[in-house]
Amino acid sequence: IPPSRIRNFSIVAHIDHGKSTLADRILEHTGALKEALDKASSQYLDKLKVEKERGITVKAQTASIVHHVGGLPYLLNLVDTPGHVDFTYEVSRSLSACEGCLLLVDATQGIQAQTVSNCLLALEENLEIISVVNKIDMPAANPEEVTKQIEDVFGLGGEGDAALRVSAKTGQGVPELLDAVVHRIAPPETDREERPFKALIFDAHHDQFRGVVCLCRVIDGKISRGDKIASCGTKTELEVLELGLMCPEPTRTDKLEGGQIGYLVTGMKKTADIRIGDTLHKADQPVEALAGFKPIKSMCFGGIFPSSTDEYESLKKAIEKLTLNDSSVVVHRESSQALGPGFRCGFLGLLHMEVFLQRLEEEFAQSVIATKPFVPLKVIDGEMREKEILSPGDWDEVDWGRSTRVMEPIVLATIVCPNEFTGKVIQLCHDHRGHQVDHSALGSQRVMLRYNLPLPELAGDFYDSLKGCTSGYATLEYEDAGHQDADLVKLDIRVNGETVDSLSQVVPRVNSYKTGKSVVSKMKNLLDRQVFEVALQAVIGNKIIARETISAMRKNVLAKCYGGDVSRKKKLLAKQKEGKKRLKRLGSVSVPVDVFPALLK
Ligand code: GDP
Ligand code: MG
Repeated sequence: IPPSRIRNFSIVAHIDHGKSTLADRILEHTGALKEALDKASSQYLDKLKVEKERGITVKAQTASIVHHVGGLPYLLNLVDTPGHVDFTYEVSRSLSACEGCLLLVDATQGIQAQTVSNCLLALEENLEIISVVNKIDMPAANPEEVTKQIEDVFGLGGEGDAALRVSAKTGQGVPELLDAVVHRIAPPETDREERPFKALIFDAHHDQFRGVVCLCRVIDGKISRGDKIASCGTKTELEVLELGLMCPEPTRTDKLEGGQIGYLVTGMKKTADIRIGDTLHKADQPVEALAGFKPIKSMCFGGIFPSSTDEYESLKKAIEKLTLNDSSVVVHRESSQALGPGFRCGFLGLLHMEVFLQRLEEEFAQSVIATKPFVPLKVIDGEMREKEILSPGDWDEVDWGRSTRVMEPIVLATIVCPNEFTGKVIQLCHDHRGHQVDHSALGSQRVMLRYNLPLPELAGDFYDSLKGCTSGYATLEYEDAGHQDADLVKLDIRVNGETVDSLSQVVPRVNSYKTGKSVVSKMKNLLDRQVFEVALQAVIGNKIIARETISAMRKNVLAKCYGGDVSRKKKLLAKQKEGKKRLKRLGSVSVPVDVFPALLK
C-alpha cells in the first residue's frame, strides 16, 4: 500500500468515555488484513498458533486495519496512548507517531478535564483532530449540547469539520468514522526510495518469547529482516530478527516502509536497553536524531519496605519483575532505621506510584509499607549550582547558605465541575497554594478552572478532597509547568527524643506548625496502646513546634485484672518490665508494623 493510502491516528478521551470500546469496534475490521498477510507469510503461521494456544496475552492497543473507500484499500494504523491516561509524557509520545487523532467525548458527560488536556496536546503536535461524540445510544445522551461545547471550548466543528456521532457499543456511525479518518487526516509524508531508513520508537514491551518488542513509526526508507540497525541514543548495533504489523497480534511481514507503523524484534532482553523516543537507523547509514521526547523524569519518589524484614528477598524479586515491563520506574536500594532494608522508587506521577503499589500487592502478593510520595525538589546555591533532593533525608545534606534557594515543580491543573461547586473548588485550590490561570464556562451547567499548583500539594489528599467537596463530580488533569521558588522546611518527628527517619517530611513553612501538630496528635491516637510513656515531638531544625505525650498503660493493664489474682498481676508487671527492657535495648519505641501505613498517610 503506497503512503498516500496510509493513515496514522490515535484516540484520546477522558477515562470511561469509551476509548477501549471504540478501539474494539475498529479492530473488528482487522480480519481482512490478517488474512492477506497470512497468505503472504504462511510459514510463520504455525508459530503464531502455538503462541495463541499457550494463551499469551499480546498488547492489543496498537493495530493496523484495512478500510475500503471508493473501492480502494487503505491501511489505517490505530496507535493507542499506552500506559495511564494522565501521563502527559505517554500521551504525547504516541501522538507524535500520528498525523491525526479522534477526540472522543461521552454524549452523557460532556467535556471533562482529560478531554481538555489531551486535546491541547494534540493541538501542540499539530494533529488533525476529528471530534467524536460517543454513546449516542444512551437515553441520557445530549449530542447537541456536547457538540456545542466542543465548538465553544476548542473551536472545532463547522463545515466539513463537524463532530461525528457514534455508538461504540452498537457500532452505529463507526463506518462513517473510518471514512472520515481517510478523508480528513493527511497521509504520512515520507520518502521510501531516496532517503535512508529512519524510525521513531514510540513504545516497547516485553514478550516472553520474543524479548523486547519495539513499536515504531517508520519515517523514511525501508527495512527488512536481517538488516543491521542502531539507534542514535545508544549506538549499539542490533540485527532485526523479526518485523511486522500489529493485527493486533504481532504478524510477520518481510519489510517495513516509510509511513508505516509496526514492530521490531532485535533480541534485546530488557526494556531498559532501549529508549523510547529514540531514533533508529541502519547501522551503516547514520541519520540525524528526531526530536525525541524529554527523557523520563521521576515526578515522585516513594520508599517501599517489606512489612516484615524476612520478606525482603521476595519483594526484591517482585519489583524486578514489575519493572521489566515498566521501565519508567527507577529503583534504588534504601535502608531505614525504622523500617529496615527496602527500596526507593521513582515514578512518573502519583497515580503511577499508586498503580505500582497495587500491582505489587495484587499480582505478587507482597505486603508492603510505602512512605508518602515525595516530589523531588531543586536546590540552587549562591553559585547557581543545582542539586536535587529526592527524599526528606537529602535535605540535611544540603549546605544551607544564605543565598541557597529551593524550587518545587508546579503543574497546570485543569478542573471541570458543575457550577454549584465552583466556590468550594476555588477555596480548595487556594488552600493548596494555587494560582488561578483561567475560569471559563463550559455550556450553562459547568465550569472549567485552570490553576498553577505546586506538585507536592497534589501528593497529599488533594484529589480526595476535590472529589469530596464536589460529590464526586469534579474531574482533574494536570501537566508539567516547570519549577518555582518555594519556602519549605523539613519537619522531623521524634519519638522519645529520637528522630524516626521515615516520618520526616518537607512542608511549606506557612503550614508547618499545623502539620506538625496534626501529625503528633494523629500518632498519639494510633500509638495509644504502648505499655510505657512515650513523648512525641514535631521538630523543625532544633525547634520543637508541637508535642504530645502518651501516658503509660500501667493503670489500664492492672485495671483489667479486677484486683483478684495476685500472680496474674505479677505476670503482667513482669511483662511490662520486659517491654521496658526492650525499649532500653532498642533505645527507641518499637512501633507496631500495622500502624505504619496510617502514620505515613
Ligand atoms: P475508556 O476508559 O475510555 O477505555 O472507556 P471504555 O471503553 O472502557 O468504556 C467505559 C464504559 O462505557 C464501558 O462500560 C462501556 O461498555 C461503556 N460504553 C462505551 N461506549 C459506549 C456506547 O457507545 N454506548 C453505551 N451505552 N455504552 C458505552
Ligand atoms: Mg480503556
